[in-house]
Amino acid sequence: MAAEAPDSGGAAVDSARRQNSRTNFRRRLRFPGPVRNRPREPVRSWVMNPTEVREALETGLIRVRRSARRRKTIAVSREGESWLLAVPQRYDPVRNARSIGELIGRVQRRSARAPRSDEALMSRATALNERYFDDGVEPVSVRWVGNQSTRFASATSAERSIRVSDRMREVPEWVLDALLVHELAHLRRPDHSAEFRALTARYPHTERAEAFLEGFSAGERSARGEQRPSGE
Ligand SMILES: [Zn+2]
Repeated sequence: MAAEAPDSGGAAVDSARRQNSRTNFRRRLRFPGPVRNRPREPVRSWVMNPTEVREALETGLIRVRRSARRRKTIAVSREGESWLLAVPQRYDPVRNARSIGELIGRVQRRSARAPRSDEALMSRATALNERYFDDGVEPVSVRWVGNQSTRFASATSAERSIRVSDRMREVPEWVLDALLVHELAHLRRPDHSAEFRALTARYPHTERAEAFLEGFSAGERSARGEQRPSGE
């Protein structure tokens, strides 16, 4: 759902080139079909790096408000296109660019999460099933579960049921879709054979989603202290 107004300004050549790259961009991300909330920005890092934060402080994209009442914590909120950063009186935002970037990342990711009920998950899966398979096999039950602490999702083909770990509530829509397509494919094939992979490859963002989830797992391991501590 690329919602961009056509660009009327600029030299003809420039404009044509821009138009062309924009079309390519859209084509790459196209995800036609009945599913809403199509992916707009596959694989994006939500965290602003320290350089970006320092630039944003200079350009006013991040505005700093000092508060005498604030002791240690910082807070960030959206203000239209920019960010309002509330900090203690003697806080140095430039030196703390890293933690500011991480905080902005968390806030952005939280706001990108859609609330997803079991019902919403089921209808999402049904839509994907129709779009990518449409062979008469339909999921009977698709629901969130809280007891999968390392797996992302699982399927039982005999019951045609799919369970998705509620840790996946925070991943972007296009990643959740890839997970659902993976489990829907398991309703047809129990293994990860070439035939299975041919099924999941029908969804255009499968590989990128797998890379995303690898990173997600690494982050979880790190948060559990299995690798180096996250530093918070
Ligand atoms: Zn699998």
